[in-house]
Amino acid sequence: MDETLQELESLKKRLREMTAEAANNETILKRTQARELSLLRADTLAQLLRALALGLRESYLLDAVSVVLLDPQHEIRHLLLASGDRPDEFKQILFVDSLVGLAPQLSVLHKPWLGPFVGADHHLLFGAGSNLKSAALIPLPRKDRATGVLCLGSSDPGRFTRHHATDFLAHLGAVAAVCVENAVNRARLLRAGITDFLTGWHNRRYLQQRLKEELARAQRRAGTIACLMIDIDRFKSINDGYGHLAGDNALKEVAQRVDTQIRSMDTAARFGGDELAILLPEASANEAARLAERIREVIASEPFALTAEIQRHLTVSVGVASVSPGRHESDMKAVADRLLADADAALYRAKALGRNRVQLGAG
Ligand code: GH3
Ligand code: MG
Repeated sequence: MDETLQELESLKKRLREMTAEAANNETILKRTQARELSLLRADTLAQLLRALALGLRESYLLDAVSVVLLDPQHEIRHLLLASGDRPDEFKQILFVDSLVGLAPQLSVLHKPWLGPFVGADHHLLFGAGSNLKSAALIPLPRKDRATGVLCLGSSDPGRFTRHHATDFLAHLGAVAAVCVENAVNRARLLRAGITDFLTGWHNRRYLQQRLKEELARAQRRAGTIACLMIDIDRFKSINDGYGHLAGDNALKEVAQRVDTQIRSMDTAARFGGDELAILLPEASANEAARLAERIREVIASEPFALTAEIQRHLTVSVGVASVSPGRHESDMKAVADRLLADADAALYRAKALGRNRVQLGAG
């Protein structure tokens, strides 16, 4: 009888354990699904990287999470920079040229590796001074190779061991890999559509879209927006005299010098051939004219290196206009067109008056 009772107790205990394990698995599954959804929902590369590093750490209650990304051309970092994010702010993301040498497990990593944290082997992945006891290294697989590794670390030695199931983690890695690839592709497209290849500035399309947004903001705050239209004087003669590449170099340097003068909240765009436009939110016409004068000076003051041997002085003419959209103004496109046309008319006057000068338009 005793034996039967004992057996019954042991069976009950086993049932409780199995129920607890099933509940635990269900919790993990739900958490994993929720986490994967948050990765899939990330709109931008920066959001995705945050969801990977910080999001995973919080939702899995881990002591450390880092993400290794293969980025030999520095493209991912450039895409982040182009969208206004600084790669060095993503402390938990490691951008590397190759996975070799980072940790012994990474040279052949086809499926998640779970096991004890070993300082000598894993410090490059998690940073020095961590008190981790176990780790999971999950490949981000794309087309039969790893494009990166998701590294999870815990101070609990029993958290990741080789006895644990790895299919949840492999799935998470696969989803993360697709998300990274998508986000990189999206960032590439976005950048190609709104960026001028030569100067690295925004293009006209972006400026026009941005102008509408800024006008709506100015209207809400009863503020002013100013616009500078900058055009290189006699630029054609640079092309004709020294060649197209010399012209390109001059254009790039003009853009760089203008960049040194404007504020971070201003939007600079290549408007057309040798014409650049700057939007200045919350700037009056007089402030904009002062900036225009500084830009004129910084261009005219020093010669430009057209080629390794040839240096020439260049000048620009600048048209300035401003607008304060009235509270009842409803056609923002018309207001935007008027502002650009006013700046353009002022630029035309600067050219007609002899070039290398700033003219203030109506507004
Ligand atoms: P103005 O003082 O009246 O502005 O004289 P300009 O010679 O600058 O006249 P205009 O603005 O009409 O000429 C612009 C020239 O810029 C014509 C075009 O061939 C050249 N251009 C346009 N885009 C590029 C480019 O991407 N690279 C180079 N090198 N030249 C370009
Ligand atoms: Mg010109």
